[in-house]
Amino acid sequence: ASPRPRAEPGVRRLAVLGHPVAHSRSPAMQSAALAELGLAGGWSYEAIDVAPEDFEGRVRAMPGEGFVGANVTVPHKLAALALADEAASAAQAIGAANTLTFDGERIRADNTDAAGILGAIGQSTKGLGVLVMGAGGSARAAVWALLGDGAGVTIWNRTPQRATQLASELGAVSATGPPNIEDFDVIVNATTVGMAASRGLQAPVLKNLPIDADCLSARHLVVDLAYGDGDTALMQIAKARGARAVDGLEVLVHQGAASLRIWTGEEPPIEAMRGATRVS
Ligand code: NAP
Repeated sequence: ASPRPRAEPGVRRLAVLGHPVAHSRSPAMQSAALAELGLAGGWSYEAIDVAPEDFEGRVRAMPGEGFVGANVTVPHKLAALALADEAASAAQAIGAANTLTFDGERIRADNTDAAGILGAIGQSTKGLGVLVMGAGGSARAAVWALLGDGAGVTIWNRTPQRATQLASELGAVSATGPPNIEDFDVIVNATTVGMAASRGLQAPVLKNLPIDADCLSARHLVVDLAYGDGDTALMQIAKARGARAVDGLEVLVHQGAASLRIWTGEEPPIEAMRGATRVS
């Protein structure tokens, strides 16, 4: 386990729990937000690397160590929901939690990945045709959020059975073959494909995802949940074709903002959070 800095007495501690977690931008982003809100003296946010077998014990110890909440990332999102005493409807429907709040020994689970996607899109998707690529955890959050917003959602996945299963569970449509990009207004990449930025990876992205770059145009909004240093290949292609491009860092900012709102009750300083995530 990574060493945990001692907090000052009375400091309300927050953390992100993951494995690995060193790469997480949440500590920089949330610390910048707390500073901007004038809460830096009374609140703190740190990264804690915790192996799956230690997760439940670590979480249950946290309230006694001054923690009031935590973000949870890969691979702990299912375990986080499972150990909670109560769960918000988003966490229940998605089947995973990325935000825990401690009220004494009581643990509440939320899922702000869904709100993060809608916040990053920043406009209503009611009546729009959305293609979600992927059927894993973040695809579940995206599909649930977009259906709730009134979009028509089609799911494509490399392993089609998983798309069919997710679609029937949440009330979306699954793509029976390669989808026609021209049929959609919004395209969401919720697969792990395309995390690197280099130009050389454009060909593999197009090979692994059902995206014909020539069919992308200014009428499309393209969301890539994956992020790295600089634009992903999909973001580069979307921008080159004149589409509106919303990247994974923008989604990260909005999920973090929703978590911060739950813990502090304050309106999150989006600009400060955005600035902190984009400094490498
Ligand atoms: P996950 O549960 O492991 O799901 C992975 C998905 O990627 C599955 O649908 C899988 O398809 C697909 N996939 C993997 N390799 C593929 C390939 N070579 N070709 C086509 N499809 C492939 O992962 P997740 O937790 O949903 O995360 C997905 C992405 O979202 C990651 O890049 C993650 O970093 C990102 N994310 C970002 C945020 C944010 O705030 N920006 C939040 C959450 C997640 P199969 O079913 O066929 O295996």
